[in-house]
Amino acid sequence: MAGTLVIVGAGQAAFSLAAKLRALKDERPITIVGSEAVLPYQRPPLSKKYLMGEMSFDRLEFRPAEWFAENNVDLRLSTWVEEIDRNAKTVRMQDGSRLSYDKLALATGATPRTLPAGVGGDLDGVLTVRDKRDADRLMEEMQPGRKLLVIGGGYIGLEAAAVARQLGLEVTLIEMADRILQRVASAETASIMRDIHQSRGVTIREKTGLTRLIGTDGRVSAAELSDGTMLEVDFVIVGIGVIPNDRLARDSGLDIGNGILVDAFTRTSDPDIHAMGDCALLPLNGQNVRLESVQNAVDQAEAAAVVLAGEDKPYQPKPWFWSDQYDVKLQIAGFNMGFDETLLRPGQREGSHSIWYFRQGQFVAVDAINDAKAYVSGKKLLDTGKQPNRAVLADHSADLKLLLA
Ligand SMILES: Cc1cc2nc3c(=O)[nH]c(=O)nc-3n(C[C@H](O)[C@H](O)[C@H](O)COP(=O)(O)OP(=O)(O)OC[C@H]3O[C@@H](n4cnc5c(N)ncnc54)[C@H](O)[C@@H]3O)c2cc1C
Repeated sequence: MAGTLVIVGAGQAAFSLAAKLRALKDERPITIVGSEAVLPYQRPPLSKKYLMGEMSFDRLEFRPAEWFAENNVDLRLSTWVEEIDRNAKTVRMQDGSRLSYDKLALATGATPRTLPAGVGGDLDGVLTVRDKRDADRLMEEMQPGRKLLVIGGGYIGLEAAAVARQLGLEVTLIEMADRILQRVASAETASIMRDIHQSRGVTIREKTGLTRLIGTDGRVSAAELSDGTMLEVDFVIVGIGVIPNDRLARDSGLDIGNGILVDAFTRTSDPDIHAMGDCALLPLNGQNVRLESVQNAVDQAEAAAVVLAGEDKPYQPKPWFWSDQYDVKLQIAGFNMGFDETLLRPGQREGSHSIWYFRQGQFVAVDAINDAKAYVSGKKLLDTGKQPNRAVLADHSADLKLLLA
């Protein structure tokens, strides 16, 4: 039997790695160390149905506690790894004890960027959303009629804004860049999502940054924006991206960039240490990227399991992502980085659209807005390495099935 595997982090990637190893009938001892107090759970509902109060926490858990016991996975919660000693092949826990490993997996995720104290980032009522505790605090703040300022027009900020509007709050969202979703989506996608939010009553201010937050008795009460506007606010959600949790890797001398550098086999610069999920910087299309998605956390962790179980098979990311806002489902297949052409296609139903991305003439991704057919067709094309028939795409009455013909 292979030696002990210690997994640091008890999130999506950690669970997927342990579950896949067991599915592969790999019986090595596994210890998962997680800093949160709760069983491993999925995060996406934290800014969607859980935040809306429509989903209980037990539905977020991947498996009940018994699963870990039955599968001989030693789950250590409410504790964390402080340091890796690569020579001794041990990790030092926060209480000073040590765990020995033969293989180590870093699945430490990422931490939301925060605002500096100098601009009021340390005031009460200035919140981020990454874990259950964050979401629970937010739920207490989300009372009808209160004034919410969302800083950042990425997916998490937009999802939180949608929840808040549905719960009857007054919502202003500011985005420093020229437009919302600037980093991740086309102008067409951004424009459709902007319209959706504005029609639901969210005030969106693009090209507008935050100058400072102002507090009253230590709690945020107003915001001064870069255009000089003063806004009264009851609380603030900061959604300005995340920073990979790579401190352990950096301190132990592993190669890092904007995340823990891994090869196609999920190995770090130490072959006995793998990394996966949001913390990992992986090779894709000749570049090193981090993919912050459930798809990547699951697939990269499963790829690591296959390698750990003895088969040197490279991880070939097939990115997909989704975001729920109001009754709108945005589904994304592919990776649009470096795109130089887009094609907007209205769907068959009102309010459905798809945006097709090309790089140097090659189809690379599709954003499908309430358009499951477009998503499925785009994903199939990407999975099979085929190019869409441009004439079919341009003919808005043509059935997308023809794309696959
Ligand atoms: C609010 C929200 C909404 C999202 N919505 C979507 C979505 O709609 N679609 C989608 O595809 N993706 C979504 N994501 C992203 C997705 O959830 C992440 O990509 C995924 O959770 C990454 O998994 P991970 O295991 O790498 O990290 P995580 O799930 O973050 O798990 C890492 C865990 O490691 C712990 N940890 C870190 N350091 C240590 C240490 N030293 N010792 C012990 N434990 C440690 C952390 O506390 C954390 O619990 C969302 C994320 C958030 C926060």
